[in-house]
Amino acid sequence: QRVEDKLYRNRYVVDSGRPHIKVLKHLFPSPNLLALTQVCPAKCYQLNDRGQVTIVSDGCLECGTCRVLCGATGEITWKYPRGGFGVLFKFG
Ligand code: SF4
Repeated sequence: QRVEDKLYRNRYVVDSGRPHIKVLKHLFPSPNLLALTQVCPAKCYQLNDRGQVTIVSDGCLECGTCRVLCGATGEITWKYPRGGFGVLFKFG
């Protein structure tokens, strides 16, 4: 079975208006920030028409990859969603 099919079985509860990840304003993305558009398994990061990186954190799997790449540099802020929100993993 493909990983996409397995991921599809997880559920996601959106905490409306309270995204748990934010990208700080930037004119041009750093290489790490740009990489997030490729490495995020949930494809949360996109480029806008000005070449800046944006995020829609709905569907985030809380894998922590973006936090490792851009959390320490301050390019993004990353918190776990509030209790009851975010990804609900279905195992098996
Ligand atoms: Fe994507 Fe993982 Fe970051 Fe969530 S934690 S936005 S799934 S890279």
